[in-house]
Amino acid sequence: MERERKKEIDKILLETERKILSGEIKTTSLAEFRERQKEKRKQLYMQKVIFVIGGTASGKTYFIKQHFKGTDFARSDIYDFQQQAYEDAGYGKDSPVPFFAEFNCLLNAQNMHVQDIIDKLKDGKDIVAEQTLFKAKRRITYLDKIKENVENVRAELYVIIPDDERWDLNCKERQISSYKTYKNQMEQVFEFPNPAEGWDAIYVVKDNEITLKMDESNNDIIDKARKELEEENERLRKEEDEKQKKEELFESMNTRPFWHYCEVCGKKEFITAQEAYDSGWDYPPKMGYFGLLGPRTCGNCHLKDTLFWKIQTSGKLPIVIENNLTDKELKTWMRIKTEPESLLVEENE
Ligand SMILES: [Zn+2]
Repeated sequence: MERERKKEIDKILLETERKILSGEIKTTSLAEFRERQKEKRKQLYMQKVIFVIGGTASGKTYFIKQHFKGTDFARSDIYDFQQQAYEDAGYGKDSPVPFFAEFNCLLNAQNMHVQDIIDKLKDGKDIVAEQTLFKAKRRITYLDKIKENVENVRAELYVIIPDDERWDLNCKERQISSYKTYKNQMEQVFEFPNPAEGWDAIYVVKDNEITLKMDESNNDIIDKARKELEEENERLRKEEDEKQKKEELFESMNTRPFWHYCEVCGKKEFITAQEAYDSGWDYPPKMGYFGLLGPRTCGNCHLKDTLFWKIQTSGKLPIVIENNLTDKELKTWMRIKTEPESLLVEENE
């Protein structure tokens, strides 16, 4: 019904636009006309954003293809933005993303995804979005941002829960881990969506059957999710703050004077990197990197007397094993390990 009505409205609006473009109707401002068309559409019908969520290989993409076939819903898939986020962070298609970087990449992907949805809605389109969205706090983040930026939008959610056989088949087709991995994951972390999150409709898709499942509105879920979000944001702010301080410290090491300790003869000088370089020191940031094993010598001492040389030429794996070091070597190593901070204050003998 709704779709029919929409088509009718579009037909009338597009007909006018066609006449303008063909010159049948003259206008001095096509841009403004289009802007008004958009407004008109908004007034005439509520836009829809539909989320299709579920575990890995549960059949989200397949469901979208089938269920939205022949409609003019625009698509927005988190997967595309995850790839983008990994790339932006410097991880290509085949390089694994280290655990510490994963979380930030996923958050960045989520931000890009929600922005894409907002842009498309503002452009007058209806959207079907694909995401995992196991957690209430993630779903709330999406809905908050969308409703902040777009008025008059109807939000629906489809939860895909395949039977084991189907899930197993999907995983085999994609040659990934057993479906049990993903099923367990879902059982452990999935929080079933509640209308209080802001959904106008929640459906469960199981064995090709779609069932409306609106639990009683529960604001405790929302309070808990908001608290989790607050804590998460606080943690991220702290991390960002520390990262920035660290960057500033590293930057300052290029110009500020700091302690240079020769690991061989014990000479020490409070000088800048440039002064050290000019008088023959081998020292970061000009030579090697802070915090990584390398020679730390004054202009009179030799590379082959350094801890770095000893480890490199040991014939074993070039890894420092603290138990095998002499007291002097251990002192050098501890100093290197905690650079650049260890070079800011004078060591007591
Ligand atoms: Zn020396």
